[in-house]
Amino acid sequence: MSLQIDLQAIVANWKALAAKAPGARAAAVVKADAYGLGATRVAPALYDAGARDFFVALASEGRILRPLLPDDARINVLSGHMEGEDLTGLTPVLNSAEQFFRDRTMRPGKPFAIQLDTGMNRLGMEAAEWAGLRAEALAANPAFIMSHLACADEPDHPANAAQLAAFREMTTGCNVPLSLSATGGILLGPDFHFDLIRPGIGLYGGLPFTEAQPVLRLALPVIQTREVKAGEIVGYGGTWTANAPRRIATVAAGYADGILRSLSSSGAQLYAGETACPIVGRVSMDLITTDVTGLAEVPPALDLICPAQPIDKLADFAGTIGYEILTSLGGRYTRTYL
Ligand SMILES: *Cc1c(COP(=O)(O)O)cnc(C)c1O
Repeated sequence: MSLQIDLQAIVANWKALAAKAPGARAAAVVKADAYGLGATRVAPALYDAGARDFFVALASEGRILRPLLPDDARINVLSGHMEGEDLTGLTPVLNSAEQFFRDRTMRPGKPFAIQLDTGMNRLGMEAAEWAGLRAEALAANPAFIMSHLACADEPDHPANAAQLAAFREMTTGCNVPLSLSATGGILLGPDFHFDLIRPGIGLYGGLPFTEAQPVLRLALPVIQTREVKAGEIVGYGGTWTANAPRRIATVAAGYADGILRSLSSSGAQLYAGETACPIVGRVSMDLITTDVTGLAEVPPALDLICPAQPIDKLADFAGTIGYEILTSLGGRYTRTYL
C-alpha cells in the first residue's frame, strides 16, 4: 500500500494560488495533518518555498509543527484559545468574547488574531460581540482579522457578496491585515483577496482549484487473482454475481484505510496504467475485489488515486467531497514523498 505524495506539486499549487492574489500574502492551511498528506513534510516544504503563515485547527497540531518550522513561521490556530491549551509559540484565532478575554488574561502581550462571523454561523464573533470589544482588541494589535466564506465554491451564490459586504463593514477603520478567502474565495477574484489568503484543498490538488497539479498516487498491491464462473458471487453479501467467466483480483486495502465502503459497486475503478478495472462487490475492511478480465497481465499493484481518477472523481463515486477522501486516507499506507 503506497501513497506517493508529490511535494513539488503541492509547492507548485501553492505558488499558482499565491500568483492569483499578488497583493496578498499566501498562507498554507495544514490542518488535519495537511489534509491527511503529512503536515510534518508538507509544512517545511512550503516554508522552503516561501510560506510564512500556516493554519492548523488545533493547538495540538500546532505543537507538532512548531519545532519543525523556523521562528519566523507564524502558526495560527483556528479553534482559538480553548481552556487549558498550551499556545506557546502559536497564534490563536480568537472566536468569541470568552476566548478573547481568556487569552488576554492568560497571554498578555502575546500574538493573537480575531475571527469574525460574517454569516456562516460556525466560528467567530458576531457583529454586536465584536462591537463590544473592538476598541480593546485593536489596541492590543491583532496579527490579522479574518472571516470564512460558507459558499465560495459556488461563485454565483448570493452569500459570497453578502459576506464580503459584512466583512468590509465590520472591519472598516481597522488598520490591521485582513483575511477572508480559502481556495474557493481566492478564485472569486481580487475583491475577496484582502491581505492574507488561506488556501487548503487547492494545495493538495482538489476542487474547486481546477488548474491544480495532481499530488497523489495511491497504489494498492494485488494479493491474489482467481477465475470465477458465470453465476458465482464475489464479496460480502454476494452483491455482485459474474454474468460470464471473469478474472477477479483482490487488492490489500479497504475501508479501514479510508477507501469508503460507499465505493462498493459505485462505478469507481482501479487502474493498471490507463486501463480501468471496475471495483466489484463490497469494499471490505482490508480488501477490495476488482474485475481484471480486461488486462493481458495483472500488475503487482493497481492505482485507486491517479491522474485518471483524481480525488474528486473518487469522491463523486463515494457520494462525498475530495476533502473527505483525503482526510480519510488511513495510517497503514507507506507515505513516500517525491
Ligand atoms: C479549512 C479552512 C481553510 C482552507 O479551506 P480550503 O477550502 O481547503 O482551501 C481556510 N480557512 C478556514 C477558516 C478553514 O477552516
